Amino acid sequence: MSRSFRKCLLSLVLTSCVSDGGDLSQATQSTPPVKEIKKSLAPVFDPALTWMTALDPLIIAQRIANGRLAESAEGGGITKPQLSDRPTYFHTNEEMLAALQDLAQRYPNLAELIELSPTGEKQRDKVDRSVWLLRLSDKSVPAAKKSKAIFWAGEHSREIVNPELLLRFARDMLSGYGLDATATMFLQTRQIDLVPIVNPDGHRIVERGFTDEEDGDTWHRKTTTPPDGVDPNRNHPFKWGGVGASTSQYAQDYRGPSPGSEVEIMNLRALTHKEMYAIAISFHSYSRLNLFPWGDTTDPTPDDAVFRALAMRYTKFNGYSPIPSVDLYPTTGTTEDGLYGETGGIAMCIETGDTFLQDDDAYAETLQLNLPVIRYAVSIASDPKSLVFGPEVRVATLSGQTLDATAEDMAQRPNSGARCTLSG
Ligand SMILES: [Zn+2]
Repeated sequence: MSRSFRKCLLSLVLTSCVSDGGDLSQATQSTPPVKEIKKSLAPVFDPALTWMTALDPLIIAQRIANGRLAESAEGGGITKPQLSDRPTYFHTNEEMLAALQDLAQRYPNLAELIELSPTGEKQRDKVDRSVWLLRLSDKSVPAAKKSKAIFWAGEHSREIVNPELLLRFARDMLSGYGLDATATMFLQTRQIDLVPIVNPDGHRIVERGFTDEEDGDTWHRKTTTPPDGVDPNRNHPFKWGGVGASTSQYAQDYRGPSPGSEVEIMNLRALTHKEMYAIAISFHSYSRLNLFPWGDTTDPTPDDAVFRALAMRYTKFNGYSPIPSVDLYPTTGTTEDGLYGETGGIAMCIETGDTFLQDDDAYAETLQLNLPVIRYAVSIASDPKSLVFGPEVRVATLSGQTLDATAEDMAQRPNSGARCTLSG
C-alpha cells in the first residue's frame, strides 16, 4: 500500500468515525440482555442474497402487489387471527406508557417523556389518553449542538409491531450508554425523538380485540373520530385532499372532513415544524418496502438522488425493496410527505414484514432487519444529504498507535466490490 493511499484512507476513516457517526459498535459493543425476545435471533437471511432479491423486478412487483392487497377495502380479505394469537411482545397503551415511564425514570439524564398531544377521544370524551414522545439525548450536552432525528409508528393501529420496534430501539440506546460506543455517541450528539404510538385511540380498539372485549377489533386501522374514524396518514394538511385519500367516511383511507382534522396529526406536525428534523422514518406494515417521496406523483423531489441513495442504504440493512412511494399506490396527506414537503427533513416510510399482526417470530425478524436501519439514519443525522453518499466504516479498532479499519461503499454499488482495508 502506497504511503499516499494509506494517508488518504486514514483520513477517510477518521472523518467517518468522528464526524459521521461511523458505526463502531463491532469494535466495542457490549450487547445488553434482550428481555422481550423469547427466541434467539438466529440469522434469517443472507445479506448478499437478500440485497439482490430486494432489487429483483419480480420481487418488487410481488411486494407492491402485497402492499396494494393490504390497503384494499377489507385489508386484503386476509383471515383475522384468533384471539389466542396475541403475540407476547405486544404492549397495550397503558403498558407502553409504563415502559416509557420506566425508561425516563431509570435514565433521567438521557431520556425525557413528553406529552405530545391529547387524543381525539380525550378531547371528545374526556378519557385519560395521550400521545407520548420519548426524547433520547444526553442532557449534559447543549441541545444546540445536536442533530435531530425522529421516528414514529402506530398511525395505523393494526400494524402492531412497529411501536415495539421503537421501544426496543430506545431500550438499546439507553442501556448501551457508556457500554456501546455508537449508542453513547448518538446520545451525546443527537436528539432522537420517538413517537411509538401516534394513534392510541385506534390502538385501544386493537388491544380490546385481543381480549374479546366489546368494541374491540384487531383489524382496526384508523382513529376513532365519529362516525367511523379517519385515516391519520391521509389527514396531514400537506397536499390534503388529493389522490389516494378517500372522501368516503367509511373507507379505510378516509382523509377526514378537513386538513389536519385529527389532533394527533396536527400536534405531530407542529412538533416537526418546531424541531426541524434532519431525518425521519414513519413505520408502517406491510410488504417489505423502503418508500421515498412523493406519494402522489412520479415527478422527482429536489432531493431525488439523496432519497434513492438513502433507500438503497436502508435496503442493504433490511433487504426491503427501495421504490418511490407513488409506485406502491398514490397517496396524499401522509405524514412523511408532509414532513419533507413542509420542513425539508429527509423523511421516508418503511413498510415492515408480511402482515399487519406479526407474530413473535416475525417481530424478531422485523427488529433484526430494521434496528440497523434506525441506527444508520441516526448516524447520518448531522448531514444526511451529504453523508448518505459517503463510505461507511464497518470495523475500526484502535490498539496503541495502530488503527485497523475497513471502509466500504457496497450499499451504492453492490456488485462493485468497492472495499478497502487499512492496517497498521
Ligand atoms: Zn400503515
